[in-house]
Amino acid sequence: MAELIESEAGSGKSDIDVRFTQLVGQERVRDVLTRASRTGRIAHAYLFLGDHGAGKEAAALDFARVLLCRSHAQRRGSEPDTFPCEQCESCAQSRRLSHPGLRILFPLPKPQSPKEGEDTAEAVEQYTAAQQKQIEGVLAAKAEDFYAPLAVPGGQEILVDHIRSLRQEFRLTSYSGGWRVVLVSQADRLRVQAANAFLKLLEEPPPNVVFILTSSRESRLLSTIVSRCQVLRFALLDRDTIRRNLQERLALDGRRADAATRLANGSWRRAVEWAQGDPAAETERAVDLLRELVRGDPGTFDELVDRWSAPAKTSEFAALLDVLTLWLRDVQRWDAHPEGEPELSRDEQLVKFATFTEGRPFEDALAALAEARLDLERRVQPALVAYTLFRSLQRVLFARAGARTD
Ligand SMILES: [Zn+2]
Repeated sequence: MAELIESEAGSGKSDIDVRFTQLVGQERVRDVLTRASRTGRIAHAYLFLGDHGAGKEAAALDFARVLLCRSHAQRRGSEPDTFPCEQCESCAQSRRLSHPGLRILFPLPKPQSPKEGEDTAEAVEQYTAAQQKQIEGVLAAKAEDFYAPLAVPGGQEILVDHIRSLRQEFRLTSYSGGWRVVLVSQADRLRVQAANAFLKLLEEPPPNVVFILTSSRESRLLSTIVSRCQVLRFALLDRDTIRRNLQERLALDGRRADAATRLANGSWRRAVEWAQGDPAAETERAVDLLRELVRGDPGTFDELVDRWSAPAKTSEFAALLDVLTLWLRDVQRWDAHPEGEPELSRDEQLVKFATFTEGRPFEDALAALAEARLDLERRVQPALVAYTLFRSLQRVLFARAGARTD
């Protein structure tokens, strides 16, 4: 059972208001965290679970900003107020994610081990200049947009050294400035050693430290860690919430907001990406791919796999899969209800394709697309994902009875 701690300034908070500066939707989560802020009864550790793009890290950072706000920590008496106040130095620092009471842990590549005879105290400093720049870049992007992914190339796990130095720091320093907050992003990437070191922290929680863990892969978390956290679940966003926020926050017109909403699949991060992208051009590319697959020329096939599985293209490939999914759903829908509302578009091209593929098991094609999308998130080799998917699409949508496509 998660334990609660009360801040020194925990009295008389019932009338405060809490503002989530970047989180979109998630009313239930807002309620729970607002109530915790009001009563000052904050859990030692929270675990935010839910799919990519649902807003786990945005909620964590917004909540951290409430706790770190200097006025919140020092508040006495009963005057009503809103936090973060956005006026104190703490708020300026937390907005840039540079507050000394805020720590962000996320999967990083292993630094090069020091050479023989070198001072081992330097071991954590062994990132190359390029790696260091990548890490700083990721954090800078996160400060701009709390939905930006904390992903560095080669970042496979949360490093045990970082957990240890955190423990050391909490043991040695007493911090009088109110709360300290540690965000552990993708906590399922705590491998054995790091997870055990982290568990020790949770078992003897330092005073006034709040841990917020996030994960989209619940089954990979240690149950001993989960049981020490208050768990909050993040559902994907409904279309109304996404559409309304796209229009309000990004000033999108209705037509673009509709297209981005459909492509977002419940993820605010993807909605913003689509809002900045060009759904019509993406649709064109997706249809081009199908056209090339239907030709079934082996040389073209290999070239398509190479093109879409290039290392720098993973997010483009993922976007292609999203568009392809919606477009095939439109084709399927046209078959069943030619009068119904399309997801993406309906044009001559679509009608031609629908006629050409009439009677094909579209469910199988959509299942293959969903599987490929999941594989990309699981970091399966993109070349393998592309090969498997393109073969499936050829077989399901285009192969003549008895004809071989392999
Ligand atoms: Zn403040």
